[in-house]
Amino acid sequence: MEEKFLELKRKLNLDKKEEEELLDEAWQFAQEAHQGQLRFSGDPYVIHPLETALILADWKLDLATVIAGLLHDTIEDAGVKKEKLETKFGSDIAYLVEGVSKVSSIKLRGSKEDQFVENLRKMFLAMARDLRVVFVKLADRLHNMRTLWALPSDRQKKIARETLEIYAPLAERLGMGEVKGVLEDLSFFYLYPDEYQKLVKISKPYYKEAENIIKTMRQKILRYLAEEKIRVVMQSRKKHLYSLWTKLKRPEIAGDFGKIYDIVALRVIVEDNNIPACYSSLGIIHNFYKPVPYLGISDFIAQPKPNGYRSIHTKVFGPKGKIVEIQIRTQKMHQEAEYGLAAHWAYGEEKAKGRSDFELEKRGARAPKEKMEWVNQLVRWQEELSDSKEYLEAVKFDVLRHRNFVFSPAGDVYDLPADATPVDFAYAVHTHLGNYIKGAKVNGRIVSLDHKLKSGDIVEIIKSKNPQKPRRDWLDFVATSAAKREIKKALR
Ligand code: MN
Repeated sequence: MEEKFLELKRKLNLDKKEEEELLDEAWQFAQEAHQGQLRFSGDPYVIHPLETALILADWKLDLATVIAGLLHDTIEDAGVKKEKLETKFGSDIAYLVEGVSKVSSIKLRGSKEDQFVENLRKMFLAMARDLRVVFVKLADRLHNMRTLWALPSDRQKKIARETLEIYAPLAERLGMGEVKGVLEDLSFFYLYPDEYQKLVKISKPYYKEAENIIKTMRQKILRYLAEEKIRVVMQSRKKHLYSLWTKLKRPEIAGDFGKIYDIVALRVIVEDNNIPACYSSLGIIHNFYKPVPYLGISDFIAQPKPNGYRSIHTKVFGPKGKIVEIQIRTQKMHQEAEYGLAAHWAYGEEKAKGRSDFELEKRGARAPKEKMEWVNQLVRWQEELSDSKEYLEAVKFDVLRHRNFVFSPAGDVYDLPADATPVDFAYAVHTHLGNYIKGAKVNGRIVSLDHKLKSGDIVEIIKSKNPQKPRRDWLDFVATSAAKREIKKALR
């Protein structure tokens, strides 16, 4: 375990002594907090936060986020108080850990697509004050999925379902394509074990064949491009199984492997800041491998996907007439495709610390990128989500910021105006609940009924034994029209 921690240190490559001390302290703290706790696998619990921190380091996130990863379960599972984290590690880290603890109780309900998107939007907004909370949450989930084998099978299914329905789409929305693919494949394995095994078996020869073809093409393309003085790195990527499975089920494919051209795709990664080299490479490749008519070229550089994905995709006739997909992108686009907003975030932070591009390059950090750009992307994403519901079309991010997102103890999200009180909350949950209000707790503490709720609060209504009439003076402080209407109705 100590070995793993050293690996984390190596990955972070910290250059300040205070930073290293803070990390050591966090590791010490996590070990003590989880002392004696075990995971289902029988491993010491602290392995989990350590692995979470390692994932965050791989995503090149800042030290505060990595430390938040180390400490992410100390509030929830070890009963540590936020105040304690604050004094020891500062408000930034304490805030992140608390954020992760809160988010962990959010459940996203709703089978309909628009309901789901709406819930996703709420979840996002509840976390929008600091996106790093989402990254910790995703890293946490990724490690939990990797070790899901240790859990009883009913819990495996439940967690896998949640991952497939919430966390994988969330990763996709954040442009973290690789993370999404891995989360989906792990979920697939537990949710549809028979289909999974069957697909592994029947797809094997297809993967093998495609890999062989790509090996030959790779050598040739490297040579062709080198002759034109274009320097590239080439990779091949295997299509993730879950993605293959859903593609095979599409009506136009109908299970026909012959119609899947990207089971293994070739990636041509051009040096940074050289978009023209992407187009030159495309031209050179087409000179040797003819593009397939009608299947065509998708230029996601000129027109990025809504989540920001950029690349040129082309399908060409490879050796023996096999159709092969080639993806061309710059180094920067590649990083973004793998890590999405995390890549933007990491870069923005490093930049903010005043590191030069040279230093960033040296540290393997993201390629130059204005901090504003990811903020813009956030806003674009925001708008895209809003579009999914007509009534939200007019509502912009700024307006939404003045809404509160509060949670029931079960983790359901409720969207209330800024001045809402526990009484508003009760009526938002159910009119029926309004008839049983005896008192209220916010974040576990008893509050008055006119208490103003804040985003992120967990609200619990203390119920009376029998139904009772609402009190007239509630009308003086309730903020929602729904609560007003129901109270008036009951008083009549
Ligand atoms: Mn955890």
